[in-house]
Amino acid sequence: MTTTESTEELVGRGNREGAAMFRDWFVELDHTAKTGGLSAYVFVMGSINEILKTFDLPVVFPEINSLQTAVRRVAHEYLEEAEDYGYSPDICGYVKADIGSKLRGGEHPMGQIPAPSLSVLTNACNTYIKWAEIWERMYDAPTFTIDIPGTRQAGGQTWPGDADFEADRKYVEVQLGELITVCEEVTGKKFDIDKFREVLTHANTMSRSWNRILELNRAKPSLFNALTDGTIFLGVANGFRGTEAGARYFERLVEEMEYKAEHGIGQTIEEQYRLLFVGVPCYPIFRRFNELFTDWGGTFVNSTYLWFASGGTNGGFQYDLADPLASLAEGVLVSTRDAMDAMFHQNEVLTHMTKDFDVDGVIYHPIKSCRTVSTGLADSRRHLTEELGIPSLFIESDMMDRRVVSEAQMKNRIDAFFEGLASRRQQALAGAEG
Ligand code: SF4
Repeated sequence: MTTTESTEELVGRGNREGAAMFRDWFVELDHTAKTGGLSAYVFVMGSINEILKTFDLPVVFPEINSLQTAVRRVAHEYLEEAEDYGYSPDICGYVKADIGSKLRGGEHPMGQIPAPSLSVLTNACNTYIKWAEIWERMYDAPTFTIDIPGTRQAGGQTWPGDADFEADRKYVEVQLGELITVCEEVTGKKFDIDKFREVLTHANTMSRSWNRILELNRAKPSLFNALTDGTIFLGVANGFRGTEAGARYFERLVEEMEYKAEHGIGQTIEEQYRLLFVGVPCYPIFRRFNELFTDWGGTFVNSTYLWFASGGTNGGFQYDLADPLASLAEGVLVSTRDAMDAMFHQNEVLTHMTKDFDVDGVIYHPIKSCRTVSTGLADSRRHLTEELGIPSLFIESDMMDRRVVSEAQMKNRIDAFFEGLASRRQQALAGAEG
């Protein structure tokens, strides 16, 4: 194959294949809904796909379903339906879009969503708990909450070898054992340890690859847009974790990114400013939101979103197949704790990221309807900018609700931010020459 042919085949392959897999996933959900099959509802921070896939349960991520309504510009219809029913305008928009869909019998722009046979959640977001209670009332299906000990204070985690860590790990392991019993009851199948090991092997490949892909984006120019391309990769990371298709996808994505790095092939625009993104994207105007930055040559090289919305898979944790359940407990503890840290204790890692990825500025995007992600961002920004001198921008809108998204206002703030970056760069150049 010539270099031109390889470039045509490889560059953009992850986006094409990811979009196709995503469509197939929804086709499966639609089929499950129409044939009355079983499904498990889960969340991105601690999906425990590893156990659910061992039981061949199709997984439904209501957070992903909801954001898809915004990307497809119909979220307002679902939000209004839920608000008319009685849900407050102030609560998480993902919950309301999901309720709107439920009130329409599972209707969704990508197909019909099945009702839950089981819901599995963690304490990573307090909304998860209230949200699952709604399904419990609506469908009378079992709800299983896993309590995962988080970081007690910044940098204060314990690690393997420490007695506190071992107590936390054991605490998670006992809960996972109980979940296996619930899955056996719901599916009528016995837990198959060999299949479980197979699922963990695929999950290992995916985590190792995801970690490598994120690391590769330190390249200059950066290889993929953490905001737009990254959202496609995240969809596959969540929906296909523990599956052969998911593992293969990520291996091929590493191949694509390594090829791009080797040949100096960057994003689709000429990179002028390297940016970090903190928060959840503005899905109601997703493409335009990204353009407000790319029009200035701004590229997103990493984000806290790729970190918490992959449930901590970014860390590359590898399960030990010799002691699979104990190792899953350790992985779930470390990864979900890490995902929570992306929201509550992000300062230290952000500081490292700005250096490792040679970042010019940090974009903070707190959103009205997700307080879990947005609380504390103003303090984080103050720390980064005032104490470390890293330029940052703070823009508020929403990930679902177009009523609180003002594109014109956003554009003014973003333009002013880039003008500041440009003048800072000119001053640095003048200083270097002088
Ligand atoms: S409040 Fe935020 S983290 Fe929690 S479910 Fe809603 S969007 Fe997700």
